[in-house]
Amino acid sequence: MFVLFLFFAFGCKTASENEKHAIELETLETVFEQYKEPAITHRRFKHADIQPLIQKHSSAFEIEELGESVEGKSISSLTWGEGQTKVLLWSQMHGNESTATMSLFDLFNFLEASGDAYDELRQVLKSNLQIKFIPMLNPDGADAFKRRNALDIDLNRDAISQISPEAVILKSIRDAFEPEFGFNLHDQQIYYNVDKTPKQATISVLAPGYNYERDINEVRARAMKAIVGMNEVLQQVIPGGVGKYDDGFEPRAFGDNIQKWGTSTILIESGGYLGDPEKQFIRKLNFMIILNALHQIALKGYEAYSVDQYFEIPDNGFQLMDLILQEVQVPVEGDWYPIDIAIRRRESNADSTYYVNGSVEDLGDMQVYFGLEELEANGLRYEEGKTYDQVFESVNEITSEKALELLRSGYSVVKVQNDDPGDLHNLPLIVLKSRDEFTGGWQTGSNPSFFLKQDEVLKYALINGYLIDLQNPKDQVFKQRVY
Ligand SMILES: [Zn+2]
Repeated sequence: MFVLFLFFAFGCKTASENEKHAIELETLETVFEQYKEPAITHRRFKHADIQPLIQKHSSAFEIEELGESVEGKSISSLTWGEGQTKVLLWSQMHGNESTATMSLFDLFNFLEASGDAYDELRQVLKSNLQIKFIPMLNPDGADAFKRRNALDIDLNRDAISQISPEAVILKSIRDAFEPEFGFNLHDQQIYYNVDKTPKQATISVLAPGYNYERDINEVRARAMKAIVGMNEVLQQVIPGGVGKYDDGFEPRAFGDNIQKWGTSTILIESGGYLGDPEKQFIRKLNFMIILNALHQIALKGYEAYSVDQYFEIPDNGFQLMDLILQEVQVPVEGDWYPIDIAIRRRESNADSTYYVNGSVEDLGDMQVYFGLEELEANGLRYEEGKTYDQVFESVNEITSEKALELLRSGYSVVKVQNDDPGDLHNLPLIVLKSRDEFTGGWQTGSNPSFFLKQDEVLKYALINGYLIDLQNPKDQVFKQRVY
């Protein structure tokens, strides 16, 4: 009796699991590690970097030059598979959103390979699907690592007017190919969270609406169901780390219109993940959910899911800060007031890397925000930093031990002789060349560079929004520039 019950329960479960045609998690992870493209190691790669990577697939894929960007850079598609169901994937319509582009090259390596344990999987994809990929739709934006194209137009607001050649390309390929499914691949700011939770929205999803009424037709419902399959994979790897975007209709956006034109459209937004500044783990997540979704599309496994399950995915929020200091005592007019200080460190481009600009975003009662890092600063008092009077030859002369010693003595600002403004460094200090003074502060918009003091002892330093524990400094990377 007991055995019979077990058999029955297990039998039921596998039947419904089989209908989904999900790929096992272990397979998705193994395949990524085996086939990830080693030539791409960080997120600021350029158009020229991917040309040889496209060409190396010219025997297994049909490669087509679709046209050129405003600045004359080629935009290519790679097509693979002999099946009936057409799928179109395009990435990096926003130039500084490169995570999924990396995953597409990983996927090309996997699809092209043969003779391993996954030939059967490839055969399922190949015989059921015809897949067209457009990696890097906005090469001018990618080369400058900025959102917009060389006309300073946001391509995702150019689906109807098609002023930009890149928008013309995407629209014409959609019309000529008429895919059943479309994947619109983006990155979002790292400050998105799963609404009302401290969890970073590492991946956010959306089946865009095609009208103001947010109606759900068969086309949109298919996209929603396929997203549920992707979410099922993600919840195993990043539990609670998936958010769903608002489906308000934007009449100029590509996702919304491609949905309207009859292609089931899936938006994937890659957000942040702690300890993954170059988004190499998120690249893996993209690879895993795209491959799994392609398999579920090939075998119509997505039909095992419901629209209700899509709506169960929690909403996205925008409540994250890099750092929140709780109840710092700040002096005003001779009195001390306890305030929470919310800080973000936004990136600025510098050649193929970046530095950060710390800023006090808001202050007061910050309970609606979550810090990626938080400090209970109750009892700690604000203290201005001092400028060190000796001028150093160069930042290279200052070791991290020396920097810490300066901080412990209350110096947050140093001057250098030979470095140029804009040069990069990794010290927890404000380094000046072009000016004599630097003003940090706690007010909104200020650069958060100051000390936190308990009685007469300096406990913490804030440098350009980075928090340094002066007694127990942890290992951290400071992305700084000379002022
Ligand atoms: Zn985007």
